[in-house]
Amino acid sequence: MAGLRIDTLTLFPGIFQGFVQESILKRAIDRGLLDLRFVDWREHAVNRHGSVDDAPYGGGPGMVLRPGPVFDAVEAIGAAEPREGLRRIMLTPQGAPLTQAFLCGLARAERIVLLCGRYEGFDERIRIGLGFEEVSIGDYVINGGEVAAMVVIEGVLRLLPGALGDPRAAAEDSFMCGGLEHPHYTRPPVFRGMAVPEVLLSGDHGKVAQWRAEQAAARTRDRRSDLLAQLRETRDGGTQ
Ligand code: SAM
Repeated sequence: MAGLRIDTLTLFPGIFQGFVQESILKRAIDRGLLDLRFVDWREHAVNRHGSVDDAPYGGGPGMVLRPGPVFDAVEAIGAAEPREGLRRIMLTPQGAPLTQAFLCGLARAERIVLLCGRYEGFDERIRIGLGFEEVSIGDYVINGGEVAAMVVIEGVLRLLPGALGDPRAAAEDSFMCGGLEHPHYTRPPVFRGMAVPEVLLSGDHGKVAQWRAEQAAARTRDRRSDLLAQLRETRDGGTQ
């Protein structure tokens, strides 16, 4: 089976250079699990100076990405229309908050297209006319969609079968079952007076599993009671 293709449309493809050459991501690309492509908006600039943005109508600070170059770029990669297996995502602080459940859905796609904004963002007609899903990585504003695209790419990559050495690693992560994961310890057994919990050294797999489940539940309750409320809602909604 061909790997998951992700097209990232950006004004700054160079930002991704180091990102694709390291660690798990590089291995996934080398092994054909991921096919990452980057398109520079400037390939579709409106003039020979490479312009893709302009001042906002109505005045005000900053520049806005023009619709022409964005539509042309999306059409050139064959992603102007929605279709099965294709997920088309515009990165914007005004989008739906990114969640693990959303990433799980993306990991089942055949192809993903990510639009990275810059400056004041996209001309509104890009949003209206292309009809991409709008996704935010959190309630704050960063300079451009590139870092947000990296978040999506890494989040999806962890979920691709074969991407991580041990497939249990992603399955046991925080949020995969709704709550937070248990704490981890490694050598040495005592570090600056802090000892590893006895149960983890016991070799008793049943007790270890029980301790981990209790720790995960306590962490979720103490730090993210909102997640428990969501879990209850899903469970109650599912049984009605
Ligand atoms: N003026 C816009 C607003 O207030 O909604 C913010 C524009 S931001 C400086 C430029 C680009 O960065 C956006 O078009 C988007 O692609 C990206 N961006 C910034 N914050 C983001 C976030 N929280 N999630 C996803 N993308 C974000």
